[in-house]
Amino acid sequence: MLTGRIHSFQSLGTVDGPGVRAVVFMQGCPLRCACCHNPDTWDVHGGKQVTTDELLHRIRRCRPYFGKEGGVTVSGGEPLMQAAFVAELFRALKTDGIHTALDTAGCVWNADVQTLLDVTDLVLLDYKYTNDEDYLRYTGMKRQAADRFLSELQARGKVTWLRHVYIPGLNDNDASIRRLCELRKTYSCVQRIELLPFRRLCLEKYQSMGINFPLANTPEPTPEHIAALRARFPELDG
Ligand code: SF4
Repeated sequence: MLTGRIHSFQSLGTVDGPGVRAVVFMQGCPLRCACCHNPDTWDVHGGKQVTTDELLHRIRRCRPYFGKEGGVTVSGGEPLMQAAFVAELFRALKTDGIHTALDTAGCVWNADVQTLLDVTDLVLLDYKYTNDEDYLRYTGMKRQAADRFLSELQARGKVTWLRHVYIPGLNDNDASIRRLCELRKTYSCVQRIELLPFRRLCLEKYQSMGINFPLANTPEPTPEHIAALRARFPELDG
């Protein structure tokens, strides 16, 4: 039985994958996204230690609420940093017949990650920017890593949803959204593209941690702006 570090556990989530889901937020992330809502997940030594059995126990209590579509999503932080732990959890969930989803930036590729994908039903790939310069500048990660991960998902025929935070002043232009939508043509594993309008809800969290939120002065997109964007790009879901 493996031990991992989690940030938190949400028993009835409805925004991280299909249906009603238990969501496990893993601790630790090597990226530093400008728009990150969870800076308290960054520290690999933070959070709390749990075993896969302890998590399974909590998840099984939520199972009556999952219905036909729901299941378990592991998010973060970056779950790929603890891929062996998540793989052991997912393997047990698959034995129970529970749907598994992995919410990741796709920044790690190794044997444990490959094993993890074998027991993952759905990948929610956070695809953050559509050009190399912004990807590196606003996440600390090369876009090639996300593209490589997406290619591996395509090669495995893994059902994938792309998730994209839409941030005024950073990636809020039609050319960028068009490039995002075009990924669906290149990668047939992509079944949905979810647009997530930027929110500043995390500002207080940054202040309480005493760290600078780089987007503190960035406005949230208005509902009208998002509605007009969706009208121009009906390919966008969610
Ligand atoms: S990958 Fe996720 S948790 Fe990590 S810095 Fe980016 S938004 Fe935050």
